[in-house]
Formats: sequence, C-alpha cells, structure tokens
Amino acid sequence: MLKVRGLTKRYGGTEVVRGVDLHVRRGECFGLLGPNGAGKTTTLRLLLGLIEPDSGSIELAGIAVPKRARAARMKVGVVPQMDNLDPDFSVRENLLAYGRYFGMARSAIAARVPGLLEFAGLASKADAQIAQLSGGMKRRLTLARALVHDPDILFLDEPTTGLDPQARHLIWQGLRRLLNEGKTIVLTTHFMDEAERLADRLVILDHGRVVAEGAPRALIESHIEPAVVEVFGEGLADWTHARAAGLCQRFETVGETLFCYTDSPDTVIGALKQTPALRYLHRPSNLEDVFLKLTGRDLRD
Ligand code: ADP
Repeated sequence: MLKVRGLTKRYGGTEVVRGVDLHVRRGECFGLLGPNGAGKTTTLRLLLGLIEPDSGSIELAGIAVPKRARAARMKVGVVPQMDNLDPDFSVRENLLAYGRYFGMARSAIAARVPGLLEFAGLASKADAQIAQLSGGMKRRLTLARALVHDPDILFLDEPTTGLDPQARHLIWQGLRRLLNEGKTIVLTTHFMDEAERLADRLVILDHGRVVAEGAPRALIESHIEPAVVEVFGEGLADWTHARAAGLCQRFETVGETLFCYTDSPDTVIGALKQTPALRYLHRPSNLEDVFLKLTGRDLRD
C-alpha cells in the first residue's frame, strides 16, 4: 500500500527528512514514532503529496506521489492531529459535506451515513451541533468522516492525543474493527502503549532518519534487556554506587529513580530486599524503554 525510497526534505539549509525508506503492506497497522521534531508530520505531508520532496520516490496505493497525488488521495482517509470539523454543520452534515470533496453523489454519501454514524457510536447524535460533542465524540466523528469515501488506507496523526482512557479505548476498538475489515492504517503517536497495542510494525524516526524498524515485540527483544527494575527511595545514590554496575546489565538514573535493565530481575530484587528503605517496581521491558534508549531522554521541544 505504501512504498517509500530515499525520501528527503529540506527546509532552508536543514534536512528534516533524511533518506527515509518505508514499506507498508495491505491490511497492516504501521506506526510512525519519534520525539518532537523528528520529522513525522513532514513525512506524513510528503506521503499525502501536500508538500514536494527534494528527492526520493513515493508510491501510495500503487500511485506515484506527488505526481498523481490527487488520485492517490482518493484512496486515503486522513485524521489530522487537530479536529477540523465544521462547527456550523451538524454531525450528519459534516459527513455529507466531506463526501462532496471527494466528488461523491449526494445519494451515495447519504447511503453511507448511517453506517458511519453507527461506527462512530453517534447514531443518536446525527443532528447534534459539533459544539455539543465531547472530545472523544469529535475524534470518532473525524475518524468516521475520513471513511466517507471508503478509502483503502487511513493516515492518523496522533489519533488519541488529548482523550481520556475511556475515549482512547473506543478509538482503538474502532481502529481494530477497520483492520479486521482489511483497511491499512498508518499512524503517528507519542503513546508507546498505543503503538504496542495497535501496530503490526513500526519505525522510530529521529532527526529525520529511521533509527529502528520492526514489530513492537521484536524491537523490544532485540534492543533491550527483558526486564526493568525501577528503584527509588532513601539511600538510592549509595546503593547505585555500590551495587548497580554489578547487578544490572545496563542502568540509568533519571531524577529520583534508577532504571535497572536486567536479564535476571530476581537477583536484583533479592539484593534490594537487603536494603528495606529502597522501594522498587519490577516490570517487563516495553516499547517506551526501547524508544528512550534509541532517542535519549533529553527534551526536544
Ligand atoms: P514531528 O512531526 O516529528 O514533531 P515535524 O515534521 O513537524 O516533526 O518537524 C521536523 C522538523 O522540520 C522540525 O525541526 C521543524 O521545525 C521543521 N519544520 C517542519 N515544517 C517546517 C516548515 N514548514 N518550515 C520550516 N521548518 C519546518
């Protein structure tokens, strides 16, 4: 569904996308991860043909972009980072108006509206004004709107940012349903649990380059020790000095917490029990650990 080779984009003298290759298969959920400024939004804009690359090739649903971007965009549904629903229209009217952008006949759009409302869980809100909807409802409507022309592939830019846990779970449920129906999804997210849950494969971008690529589980297995013991409490500095290097394969102190990455958490925990003032949290390693290892802990804002 998506083939990208050697994509680059410069702004002024700075290369913000630096030789990116991507390959997304039909029916796959593909994650595009990276800290702020990594080049995710620029990459998405390039993929949609909204901006021109300096070099590289893009094929979206078999169509060359940016050359035939308009034709390619007919196959794509887009959920932007910020909801941009029309506040002057009702829920139903937003869907109808959006379908017109794709040149659909009114009757064809009208036939799809009940299914889209049901998908969004907004059947009872069809005539509500946008201002009457909660954040979660607006997001679900934006998602339903992106489906109005029955696209093969969906691009979602941070689909659950700003939503509460209940609303996020509903969006995830909707996305899983779309994947089960055979749609392809490309999403950016800052939530590693979201990527771990949804993405079949993902890339981590940093400074415009792909720094890791693979299935979430495979990335965790290949980049990081299987367990983490987070240690905090009184006497941490002394304990770190005396024991961390001997007990942890790798360790980092962030603020008041020691992150001890290890193959044998039981040994670490056994040692910690001898120092009752210290508390700890033992957990399996996750995608966030991989992300922080590869991109660092420095703020990028
Ligand atoms: P991300 O989405 O990963 O946060 P972006 O793609 O928005 O990253 O930005 C990547 C880099 O490109 C940043 O340094 C940003 O300042 C720069 N950038 C993005 N858009 C423009 C633009 N239109 N003009 C100049 N610089 C830009």
